[in-house]
Amino acid sequence: MASEVLASIPLTSLPRLSQGKVRDLFSLPEQDGEKPTLLFVTSDRISAYDVILKNGIPTKGAILTLLSAKWFQVLSDRVPGLKHHFLHLGPPATPGLLTADEQKMLRGRSMTVRRLKIFPIEAIGKLPLRGYVTGSAWGEYQKDQTIHTLPQPAGLAQCARLPQPIYTPSTKAELGDKDLNISPDQARAIVGDKYASRIEDLALACYKAGAAYAEERGIIIADTKFEFGLDEETDEIYLVDEVLTPDSSRFWSEADYQVGRDQDSFDKQVLRNWLTENGLKAKPDVEMPPEVVEKTKARYTDVFKRLTGVSLEDALNKLP
Ligand code: ATP
Ligand code: MG
Repeated sequence: MASEVLASIPLTSLPRLSQGKVRDLFSLPEQDGEKPTLLFVTSDRISAYDVILKNGIPTKGAILTLLSAKWFQVLSDRVPGLKHHFLHLGPPATPGLLTADEQKMLRGRSMTVRRLKIFPIEAIGKLPLRGYVTGSAWGEYQKDQTIHTLPQPAGLAQCARLPQPIYTPSTKAELGDKDLNISPDQARAIVGDKYASRIEDLALACYKAGAAYAEERGIIIADTKFEFGLDEETDEIYLVDEVLTPDSSRFWSEADYQVGRDQDSFDKQVLRNWLTENGLKAKPDVEMPPEVVEKTKARYTDVFKRLTGVSLEDALNKLP
């Protein structure tokens, strides 16, 4: 396994379409009669409070890619009619497409996906399955007894389960801007009536199915966000992007879960805490010390094993 930390993706054989906070997207040559595809490459970059840290987390790109691939399979099995962008791990096998070094660098961290038109909202079904009141939702609830403006029952304690999972969308901001929480009605206005309820239903169905699967493995998915895209030719909605990873979700250990207090999570919490304690929140060019890198890597690796049932090392060894 490459122990190198890849903060940027050294790939010049394909045109780079875009670079997000964590991923680089490359366009793949069009095949006759086939729909357009992308090479979706996950770096080891990590962001917190919408700022990318100077150094990365070793193996993070592979963890996010292989975990998302697992989820596409699980959700396909469990959500009737779900369409998603995942085609296969790695680049297409076309001879001469990439150099040997590029193929080696991409191992475990790339997948070939359908290229789609992305809806400008992210569907955050905060508090899936059982629904847990935490993070910014806890702040809003304490103030107004609402979550994303939706009224909630009185007397919920911190991190308590909600009666129903809620669809709590946000706008998808441009790089460098902060995503904004909005109400389901505002999402409807942005996406249009034609697609809004279908996205809402899909987001909730994916949440419920994902949360149930995770719960069988001792993990609570307190919240997460999904992205959806449109095949404009067929007018069909697809689940896209990364799915149910520690970057996009809040994972808690069922065994340690206790209502009435904050929970320790298997995600960027170590990093967020360190940034806050050191007054570095949202500051540019911050370098994480080795212990923050190690602890974050350990949490990501741990949740990967719990959710997929195999260690990251074994999963990487199984790749062609
Ligand atoms: P964050 O996840 O923190 O919001 P980001 O959105 O800037 O970061 P990345 O996750 O680094 O971006 O990169 C993924 C990008 O690829 C996103 O802009 C996402 O909308 C886009 N994307 C995902 N799936 C597809 C797809 N099938 N077709 C086209 N674009 C896609
Ligand atoms: Mg993203």
